[in-house]
Amino acid sequence: MIIRDKLYIDGQWVAAHGQKKLSVVNPATEETIAKVPAGDAQDVNDAVRAARVAFDGWAALTLAERADWLKKITEGLNARSEELTHIITAELGMPVEFSRSIQTAMPLEVLSLFVDMTDSFQDEQLDNSLLVREPVGVVACITPWNYPLLQVVLKVAPALLAGCTVVLKPSEITPLDAFLLAEVVDEVGLPAGVFNLVCGIGTEVGESLAGHPEVDMVSFTGSTRAGKRVSQLAAETIKRVALELGGKSPALVLDDANLPLAIEATLDSCFMNSGQTCDAMTRLLIPEDLYDQAVSLALEMAVSFTVGDPTEAEVKLGPMVSEQQRRRVRDYISKGIEEGAELLCGGVEPPSGLEKGWYVRPTIFGRVTPQMTVSREEIFGPVLSILTYRDEEEAIRIANDTNYGLAAAVWSADEQRALKVAKRLRVGQVGVNGGPGNLLAPFGGYKQSGNGREMGRYGLEEFLEVKSIQLPKNDDQ
Ligand code: NAD
Repeated sequence: MIIRDKLYIDGQWVAAHGQKKLSVVNPATEETIAKVPAGDAQDVNDAVRAARVAFDGWAALTLAERADWLKKITEGLNARSEELTHIITAELGMPVEFSRSIQTAMPLEVLSLFVDMTDSFQDEQLDNSLLVREPVGVVACITPWNYPLLQVVLKVAPALLAGCTVVLKPSEITPLDAFLLAEVVDEVGLPAGVFNLVCGIGTEVGESLAGHPEVDMVSFTGSTRAGKRVSQLAAETIKRVALELGGKSPALVLDDANLPLAIEATLDSCFMNSGQTCDAMTRLLIPEDLYDQAVSLALEMAVSFTVGDPTEAEVKLGPMVSEQQRRRVRDYISKGIEEGAELLCGGVEPPSGLEKGWYVRPTIFGRVTPQMTVSREEIFGPVLSILTYRDEEEAIRIANDTNYGLAAAVWSADEQRALKVAKRLRVGQVGVNGGPGNLLAPFGGYKQSGNGREMGRYGLEEFLEVKSIQLPKNDDQ
């Protein structure tokens, strides 16, 4: 059992003012693996004050100096990468091989890319104006549990590089990797107050941060429900708010597409991390004529998505992160059946032999209509809905008929045709014919999927203000 009894505030490990403790439970074994302190409003106050005091000194460093600090943090995390992988598998339940590459190597790569971004913002001259970019100030970073370290790094790294100071509130469900990050920050000797860690529950620590008058910006990733609440609280002091929220992303397969490739990639995306991925392709849109073929391919491929103990190398799907999440997913599966979707595989019963642990079978619904709940709401579990369409116009209409707008995929033998369709989708990112993700390209949502961008230069700019300084014109003098 890991016991964490301190928060990291102002360059020190300090006892939390909040007296409550939170249990971290391994979703595969249902055993409590750690206890962490639940911070409260007083802890938030202390952390925000420390970040405020540290701000001027940190902002005054050069970009290259701040990048040097980030480099040290990256090296420190790199040295503990195996530990990170196993901790994230234990707190989240993602199979260890995936954890190693996605939950650990990817955030470390993101960090390195930010370290290299030292020429990314410079002063500009615009006629008689000097345009300078300055850090926003004290940033509250509030993060979810599904890609815990990645979500943290996507906020903390650009915020620090920009010259902001940070208070991090990681998910209360998966806080352990953030404690490792704080240990590394402490070991490298980052100036006190530049990075602070206050863990706790959303309605207490998260809301205190979102409403705190000394916080200049909230960078939030999580559910649309909590994102709305954060925005309301932040509005009181006109904070900048960057939101990365939920999704219900469509994979739009055109009639000339390579069907096996498209279906394989959609299943991979939908079932990755047991469906607990914000940009998972959860709606597969197929031309009516290709429906039967698509279903048999999907069923054939679904068999390879083995569910089981996430510490075993060959397992592809671990459990849901929590009992509550499993209940939610099962309720959606029941709702799909009730509303008349055709259950092609999976279902509400646990996978055989896995009665302990919060497992759900990869589930595919056929003959789903755009009005059904499983087609409209974010399930956040391994559940794919297959819908059909008559023509391209209808496909685009169905794809856009959602409150979300995070991601999409388009498949066609004709790349130009796919590109035209991609441009008509109201989403922040589109993969064409399986084009791989790019850690330097902006990532974010349209509509209720959010309003900010993360990764690369766009991700850094979220944390910058632009000041224009008007200088006398030569001919005025
Ligand atoms: P969540 O909204 O329950 O929690 C996210 C974070 O917000 C946690 O730290 C939580 O403690 C905090 N929080 C909860 N209520 C709050 C409140 N009232 N005020 C302030 N903070 C609050 O989400 P989750 O269950 O941890 O994560 C799953 C959700 O995150 C899904 O909807 C998923 O789509 C979304 N997500 C989006 C992205 C993206 O980049 N768009 C990435 C990952 C996850």
